[in-house]
Amino acid sequence: MNSINSAKSLPLELYFGGTFNPVHHGHLQVALEISENLSADSVYLVPNYLPPHKASPDVSAAHRSAMCELACQIDAKFKVDARELVQTGASYTIATLKQLRAEKPDTSICFLIGMDSLQTLDTWREWKTLTEYAHLVVAARGGYQANFNPDIQSFLEKHQTRQASELHQKKNGCVYLVNTSELMISASQIRSRYQNKQNCLCLLPDAVNEYIMLNHLYQR
Ligand code: ATP
Repeated sequence: MNSINSAKSLPLELYFGGTFNPVHHGHLQVALEISENLSADSVYLVPNYLPPHKASPDVSAAHRSAMCELACQIDAKFKVDARELVQTGASYTIATLKQLRAEKPDTSICFLIGMDSLQTLDTWREWKTLTEYAHLVVAARGGYQANFNPDIQSFLEKHQTRQASELHQKKNGCVYLVNTSELMISASQIRSRYQNKQNCLCLLPDAVNEYIMLNHLYQR
């Protein structure tokens, strides 16, 4: 782990966007490890708006957000930022980061994504400007071998840092790849296991499993 230069250290907040349908231990373990690695002050789960044609039957934004709230019981630094769910229509990460930067002008904002998301980053709206508002922190993901196209490769060459301390000294602008535990867990695997009435207790927090059972989610 890199040492943090506390002499000139900005407050650092970690934001983790996803559909979280449902949130699982793959998400939570990488967020926890990166929060430790960066000595983050807060960790925010930011559930995405999900278009109706993509939502699982009967799993609303409210349910996804409620499951994230339950998952945040793992650590006092974890909170939900539901800003993308109170909008009507799709929200884009770039818009969220612009809002956050306006709200927090003196904070190092770190946006966490998995390695699979980095590989398709060039499909995101205004992707090359994301680092004007935040750092991108990329978690290794079990089952995904990094293989970047030339556009993403040159973006990385421009922005990549290997020093965690740089994320405390600058408010945005860096891409930081972190070796985290590679848990081969995905939300789609979990949805399919619930549909098949299989046990998911090792894949997500007990409280989230209880919520799913109580509300009969994913079981049709
Ligand atoms: P689905 O299986 O439905 O596609 P998912 O498990 O990938 O869902 P998302 O909510 O879509 O979960 O993911 C949000 C973010 O978390 C993405 O950046 C993704 O790369 C990352 N992520 C998800 N699961 C893991 C994991 N097991 N390890 C590391 N990163 C992960």
